[in-house]
Amino acid sequence: MVAESKQASSECSVSLKVLRLLESLKQTETGTIIHQHVTHILADGDTLHSDIEQAYIRLLGVMLHAYERQLPPHSALRTHLKLIQLRLTPPLSAAEISGLRRYIELQGHDFSQTGAGGNTLLEGALAPLLEIFGAPPLPLPQASAHDTAHENTPPHVDHRVDLAYRQHLDEKRKNMQGIQETLDEEITQAIRQSEEFRMHLEIELGRLYRAEKMKNMDAARLALVKATQGLLESNRQLAIRLESTHTHLQAVKTDTQQLNEELTRVHLLSLTDDLTGLPNRRAFMRRLEDEVGRVQRYGSPLTLALLDLDEFKAVNDQYGHPTGDEVLRCFATNILSTFRHHDMVARYGGEEFAVLLPNTDIQGVMYALKKIQKRITESHYLHNGTALPMPTFSAGMALYSAGETFTSLIERADAALYRAKNLGRNRLEIDTVESAQSINS
Ligand code: GH3
Ligand code: MG
Ligand code: MG
Repeated sequence: MVAESKQASSECSVSLKVLRLLESLKQTETGTIIHQHVTHILADGDTLHSDIEQAYIRLLGVMLHAYERQLPPHSALRTHLKLIQLRLTPPLSAAEISGLRRYIELQGHDFSQTGAGGNTLLEGALAPLLEIFGAPPLPLPQASAHDTAHENTPPHVDHRVDLAYRQHLDEKRKNMQGIQETLDEEITQAIRQSEEFRMHLEIELGRLYRAEKMKNMDAARLALVKATQGLLESNRQLAIRLESTHTHLQAVKTDTQQLNEELTRVHLLSLTDDLTGLPNRRAFMRRLEDEVGRVQRYGSPLTLALLDLDEFKAVNDQYGHPTGDEVLRCFATNILSTFRHHDMVARYGGEEFAVLLPNTDIQGVMYALKKIQKRITESHYLHNGTALPMPTFSAGMALYSAGETFTSLIERADAALYRAKNLGRNRLEIDTVESAQSINS
């Protein structure tokens, strides 16, 4: 939209200037007719100019699109091509148009000889075009095999997201943000300077025009006027350039947004356990830290329970690892799902789960875990179509004690769990700061 009005205004301004100069013609009848003719000629010229420009732009758009289709979906080159397509909006500068004309003359011949060729042909053909528009040359500097793998094959949702990839994305995002901020600042400053410069020149120009009484200064005055007009013109070009840089910046912004979305997705994946779909240990530790902070501020009770399946190794040994996985999934989705939604259930380790219960005291957690124990006795998992009883679990619980660190809370719950195992398994053990008490199931 902006480009269209820009085009209209730039074409109109030239035509209008000419028509304004010829305004006095209208004082006579013949002059009025001449004026009308000139108006028509100028309008035709404008349309023709705009048609030619559009034709160039369309042709190049098709070529860029054809090349883009051959690139892998996450290639950085796609962004560069998008940037060029964005810049291919009218009005093009005289230099750009003549550059395009030369380019089409040279490339048109090669294309007609070879037909719609492959990537290499397009690459070769597009390199001079990118040069005209000041974009990085094709092909981009070869990325290392590691980088290319990241660029072309982002991790699928089912895959474990590795730390290196997240760091790579994080770095990329930071870099882009940096560029964006600097560019934004520079542009704002340049626009302001350019505006001040233009006003200053206009004032000077006005003064020079009015300096009629000065003798013998006519020649110098005219020279100065001419020079100032030249400066004004280059200033106008600068303003156009700045506007196109703005468009550039918009494209970079869109890219950053996409990158941020990708990061959020990766971030979520990094907090989820693949096998059970539960939050993983990292997610749990974050929440624990938050909850401990909250408890320290508001003093509400907070309990932690660590649950470990009993003799789980035997399940793996007897029925195989996939069946062991099935038991873990079943425990997570059918059994632990009985906790309230504001309790946090996480997979803490192999066959160990952690439950954090805000606003809950020991009686509350004991009640919840007994429900789990009951549910276990009623549940089964499938092995080769046969329903087998779920393994039991042992649990250690600890109530948060004012002032202690979250690590200390975990250690106490872990110690209670250890005791439950030592005392024969399938038990719930409580650890308190002052004393330890045991409740057998
Ligand atoms: P205990 O009652 O003392 O806890 O005995 P256990 O056999 O449950 O504990 P141990 O630590 O000896 O063994 C845990 C087993 O859990 C060994 C490990 O291979 C298995 N395991 C850990 N993660 C997974 C997993 O994701 N899938 C499967 N199938 N097994 C797992
Ligand atoms: Mg175990
Ligand atoms: Mg264990």
